[in-house]
Amino acid sequence: MTRLASCAVPLLVGLAAACGAPRAKLVPPPPVSPSTAIVGATLWDGTGHAPVTNAVTVVRGDRILCAGAAGECRVPHGARVIEARGQYLIPGLIDSHVHLLFLTGGSATEALGLDLRDLLAQGVTTVRDMGNNPVALLSRVSGFEAAPRVYAMQLVAGRRFFFNGFRAVQTDRGVVYRQAPALTMQWLGWSPIQYNRGEDPEAVVAAARQAGAMGLKLYAQLDSVSVRLLTAAAHRAGMPVWGHAWLQPANVGDESTAGMDGVVHAAGLAGELFTAEERDTLVNDGDLQAVTARAATAVSAHDPRILATLDSMAARGTMFEPTLDATRHSLVAYDARRRHVPSVQEAYVRAAAEFGVEIAREAVRRGVRISAGSDHVAYGPVGERASLFGELRLLVDSIALTPTAALLAATRDAARAIGGQAGSQVGTIEAGRYADLVLLSKNPLEDIDHLDSVELVMRGGRIWRPGQLRAGIAMR
Ligand SMILES: [Zn+2]
Repeated sequence: MTRLASCAVPLLVGLAAACGAPRAKLVPPPPVSPSTAIVGATLWDGTGHAPVTNAVTVVRGDRILCAGAAGECRVPHGARVIEARGQYLIPGLIDSHVHLLFLTGGSATEALGLDLRDLLAQGVTTVRDMGNNPVALLSRVSGFEAAPRVYAMQLVAGRRFFFNGFRAVQTDRGVVYRQAPALTMQWLGWSPIQYNRGEDPEAVVAAARQAGAMGLKLYAQLDSVSVRLLTAAAHRAGMPVWGHAWLQPANVGDESTAGMDGVVHAAGLAGELFTAEERDTLVNDGDLQAVTARAATAVSAHDPRILATLDSMAARGTMFEPTLDATRHSLVAYDARRRHVPSVQEAYVRAAAEFGVEIAREAVRRGVRISAGSDHVAYGPVGERASLFGELRLLVDSIALTPTAALLAATRDAARAIGGQAGSQVGTIEAGRYADLVLLSKNPLEDIDHLDSVELVMRGGRIWRPGQLRAGIAMR
């Protein structure tokens, strides 16, 4: 109801009295600018093309309208203009391997929101969660405005992951009681689905879809036949399939041959060094660590069986997330605690660090496509969490990728790795894609460390400044 209409109704006495006073002229709010133009920056669009200096990037709503040289892209009349001369515009970064949901003293509530803000402040505008409860994760994340896009994968594992493992183990520190790995996972609030050979793989796919997952993450205790059946069923439904390397008893060769879209963890290529029968005896996570600690070395990383699997991955387009930063963090933690008896876990981490770097180098050399998933967790001391930034530094410093190649692994190729909607909607700065952008004050193509110079982050057309995100204040 307008004021004039109110004054015309005599029964509304109070309002009629108010109408007698001189009225302040109503000033309409300024029209919401329909578009934003980032002008003058050097544009690296993530498509593989060379950077464009003095570029214009126009965003309307949540989409990129146009991006290119000043002559190709016109600034629309009335657009909000962001002057970015001397700065660098790149696609929003993608971490294709995170774990955000931890119910045990972790990120169930406030800490999750802080982690999401921190990811956004680092320029990470999309993540794929590789282990979680998709329903719980997606509903919790939807409560936070300042957050990257989150895609969730559904964990799948075989019977032994759920039922084997309860046992007493004699260690240097006495008897330790272990439980089935699935139970530990469920305590975190995660919800792996059980699949056993002979069961209907379509039921797994339907359950994953029902939970809101966009793909399957095969996790453990699955044989090569199960891997093939699950992969085919998921692909029929248009869902990508990624897997832990290795799956006990299926190894990475089996995963690649089955047509899986990608595998994670460089150290998992140790599975190629064992026969299918040997792998089938490894029932618990501890078993895998113990045999990896013995078999994985800088020399065995170049074993012909491993090279054959890497060649198969390159030929079939099986993508690879080495997750080197997560191992490095574990290594640093063990290095800091020198006065102790080394455990199997420590021996595993030391072997995995050296072996994993060699594997990642071989993978790159042989043309395997890399996605820069970090295995970041939204839990525990911040300094001890793997990060996309850390993974990219390792890809440059230890694997000798150029900064440009490393950035492609965290933009265009990470979007491909996630697949589904993300594959065509994020990862590059192209007309029609989501306006997910990062503006930097220093050139990341010169030095990957310059990713720490984030000036602003745009997600779906909305602008955030790192300082404000970290201070908990948002800016529209
Ligand atoms: Zn992980």
